[in-house]
Amino acid sequence: MIIILRSGVTPDQVDHVVKRVEELGLRAHLSQGTYRTIIGVIGDEEQLRSEPLRAIPGVMDVIPVLPPYKLASKEAHPQPSVVDVAGVKIGGGKLAMIAGPCAVEDQDRMRSIARAIRAAGANILRGGAYKPRTSPYAFQGLGEEGLQVLREVGDEFGMPVVTEVTDPRCVEVVAEYADMIQVGARNMQNFVLLTEVGRTRKPVLLKRGMSATVNDLLMSAEYVLSQGNSQVVLCERGVKGFDTATRNLYDVASVAVVKGLSHLPMIVDPSHATGRPELIPPCALAGIAVGADGVHVEVHDCPEKAKSDGPQALLPHEYAELATQISRLAALFGRSIAPLPGAETCDAR
Ligand code: PEP
Ligand code: MN
Repeated sequence: MIIILRSGVTPDQVDHVVKRVEELGLRAHLSQGTYRTIIGVIGDEEQLRSEPLRAIPGVMDVIPVLPPYKLASKEAHPQPSVVDVAGVKIGGGKLAMIAGPCAVEDQDRMRSIARAIRAAGANILRGGAYKPRTSPYAFQGLGEEGLQVLREVGDEFGMPVVTEVTDPRCVEVVAEYADMIQVGARNMQNFVLLTEVGRTRKPVLLKRGMSATVNDLLMSAEYVLSQGNSQVVLCERGVKGFDTATRNLYDVASVAVVKGLSHLPMIVDPSHATGRPELIPPCALAGIAVGADGVHVEVHDCPEKAKSDGPQALLPHEYAELATQISRLAALFGRSIAPLPGAETCDAR
């Protein structure tokens, strides 16, 4: 950590800062320039992070040297992490292909969508049972019944399942049914929820909040990691923008930014990012090109009857085409879609 002192700081003030640093068990290295005095703090930066050093008279700025998300950072773990979702390994060159309807609706529909996306190359089935909706009058999801349907269909087609949890009181029941727990954009900074999912040992899909910075996203991941759950996959799903041409503003560069800062896998969700089916394929491919570890896409076999997010759903055949393109593009970068465990058993079905 570097402490920059104000110009005109008095010798007493300098001594006081040095004393505070030493009281906290660290060493202070004074560097006196013509116009500014700088103190380099030697020792464990964590000791100082929560200290209000800027409140000390004479201190102008305090610059940490290490990122505050120490477990999520590359310093902590230089190699890319691989997250294992019931045998589907995401990261380190293997791509997650998460697909399914926005919400679990009924068993037959879930089965027909699962069959189609699996044949197309998806390796994780999604579907919301607890839906965070802007309107309290909109479809809220089937709750535990939806979890049961998702689990049964996932098992039938040999696919791991991911579903969102919106309430800390539901983490236990969601963890019972799901292979991966999604924390959605609206809850990215629900710290009680993050702590609860961190206490499970289920992989977590953490979506970027709609007004969250990359730093906020990594700090939220840190909540989960700090509970001992190292299985976190990040997801770019667009942030609030001023342009209504797309549902959100797809910040595809955030993937490249995160790749420089963290070892955690990061995927993209062009469905929620754009809200427009015709934009999903190009934006999914852009995500792969910048280094995303997978793509999360909403697919529905009858979007006009979907109970949520129908207008942004891809049809199964459109998803199949996209999956082929993703696979081809990924191959250019030496990456490939993560295989399903025991794929041969299900192919025989
Ligand atoms: C979803 O995945 O259906 C969802 C609600 O996503 P987000 O949290 O990104 O809006
Ligand atoms: Mn949705």
